[in-house]
Amino acid sequence: MKEYTEDDIGQKFTIVTPEGTYIEQEIVRYTCFVCGESMIGTIRSAGGFAAAHKIYHEEELQLARLG
Ligand SMILES: [Zn+2]
Repeated sequence: MKEYTEDDIGQKFTIVTPEGTYIEQEIVRYTCFVCGESMIGTIRSAGGFAAAHKIYHEEELQLARLG
C-alpha cells in the first residue's frame, strides 16, 4: 500500500484494492476545522476522515451539553 506524502498532493493515481479499482484518484490534504488533525490521501479517504471527525465532534459536543 502506497504511503502518500506532501509531494503526492494534486497528483492522480489508480489504486487497486480488494473492493475495486479506483481510477485516477486525486490526492488531497484535508484538515479537520474542529481539531486541526489532517491527512493526505484520496478524496474518498478524505471524505471518510471528514465524516468520522464530523460525527465524533458532534457526539463530543452533545456529551458536553449533557454533562
Ligand atoms: Zn477533528
